[in-house]
Amino acid sequence: MFHWFGKISFVPYSKVQDFAVHLKDGRLMGSKCKDCGYTTFPPRADCPECLSDNYEFTEYTGKGTLFTFSTIAAAPTGFDDVVPYTVAVVDLEGGGRLLGWAGDTLDKDKLTIGDEVQVVPRILGEAADIKVYYTVERPGTTWKKAPPPHLG
Ligand SMILES: [Zn+2]
Repeated sequence: MFHWFGKISFVPYSKVQDFAVHLKDGRLMGSKCKDCGYTTFPPRADCPECLSDNYEFTEYTGKGTLFTFSTIAAAPTGFDDVVPYTVAVVDLEGGGRLLGWAGDTLDKDKLTIGDEVQVVPRILGEAADIKVYYTVERPGTTWKKAPPPHLG
């Protein structure tokens, strides 16, 4: 289901493709190495610390700090309908870095590196095929999650 990921999925298959299914359910997942405990985002099937492939998904809060950001005026293919837009790179609580679209709760003219932010899983419009992504929002922003799996 990794072809669900992003407005255009450049990498349709991955060992961690359930990542996209969790995003659809409102969960931002990183990976946790079952051998050494290292956590990272985006999820990696192969541990960058000890090279073990024994991993599990672990839920991230999506809280983080703004590492950098940029407003795009000249659109790459497939993004012509949304320019100008701002993308943000976030250092996540729990480890790892994420590139997301700056969401509606942020004042794009007042962004400052180091700002506390909240990453929110999203489903892209009413696309014929499901598309999932995430936005970077003001701290405290909430969203809907599917019920936890395997509960009756
Ligand atoms: Zn490890």
